[in-house]
Amino acid sequence: MTIATSTLLADGRELIYFDDGATHRPHDAVDTRPLDPRSAGNTGELRYDALTGDWVAIAAHRQTRTYLPPADQCPLCPTTGANLSEIPDSDYDVVVFENRFPSLGPAVGASPSNPEWGTLGRAFGRCEVVAFTPEHNGSFGGLSPERARTVIDAWAHRTEALSALPGVKQVFPFENRGQDIGVTLHHPHGQIYAYSYIPPRSTVMADAARRHFDAHDGTETLLGSILAKETSDGERMVAQGEHFSAFVPFAAHMPLEIHLVPHRHVPDLAALNDAERDELSSMYLDLLRRLDNLYDTPTPYIAAWHQAPLDGLYRPASRLHLQLTSPRRAADKLKFLAGSEAAMGAFINDTTPEQTAAMLREVCAEKKVTHA
Ligand SMILES: [Zn+2]
Repeated sequence: MTIATSTLLADGRELIYFDDGATHRPHDAVDTRPLDPRSAGNTGELRYDALTGDWVAIAAHRQTRTYLPPADQCPLCPTTGANLSEIPDSDYDVVVFENRFPSLGPAVGASPSNPEWGTLGRAFGRCEVVAFTPEHNGSFGGLSPERARTVIDAWAHRTEALSALPGVKQVFPFENRGQDIGVTLHHPHGQIYAYSYIPPRSTVMADAARRHFDAHDGTETLLGSILAKETSDGERMVAQGEHFSAFVPFAAHMPLEIHLVPHRHVPDLAALNDAERDELSSMYLDLLRRLDNLYDTPTPYIAAWHQAPLDGLYRPASRLHLQLTSPRRAADKLKFLAGSEAAMGAFINDTTPEQTAAMLREVCAEKKVTHA
């Protein structure tokens, strides 16, 4: 059982320690840094793009954020005498805290209704950082199953808590791994965004899910139906468990793309039971290790945990799932999102999903010791 201990940082931000069940510690260290109290007035703008119907968060204040600090000044390592980091204690298992340079928040509330050209709101919401381990070098794929389970419990805890904040419409845990895709801190970590609106891609997927649900009189969900088809077809399956299955989707957008789907219709990570969380811990590690073992160097990836929007229309039809993608198309080649993808949203994938699935099935899923 993961144990959560909440505290406040010097500027008033919330920080929560999540301890692996057997190693509970008191965590009474105090943040002694001379930080100015953060202000809700620092919340950025939300602007409505009338051309597309998208909201854009304008977060100019983030330009001063920490960028690839040296290891001895890492803000995610435990605090030492020489490095007063973001994490006051001298040791921890998993930690979640409010981002010091958030693109959303710290103020929370509802985004404007009936927007049109010129509609300006505040970038309400919350941005949190999740440190997966006190070890500076390493990766999620290098964690033990017990530690991965603690991270999953932390994601579930935060999903439930953030979903209850005023105005929040979507809670999104994710990890960007690798400098090639814009990581600004090396220490293994992920993030959680709580949006005051349903983001564009979630809206598209939630619309499709709701249409399918209605067309089947509420007896069948889109992701449930896709899972059944991928399972019976089998060609793109990567891993199958009792509670989850992983496959390369029929129409994969990216050179490496895996969807991990729960067999039970659950809206989010908070709704997973103990047995499901245990299996998820080992299956997720399995997938990350397969990605890393494809080549001699670690594979950059984006791990995106899609959860059901907090919206009465969409929520019943939307199912939790992971979309794990990488732009890597060879040992030394990355796919860049250029004209067709970036400007038109029209993807061209140079690999076939069937070949990618075969490659991922064949590669070793053990932890590779040569990777830092
Ligand atoms: Zn570190």
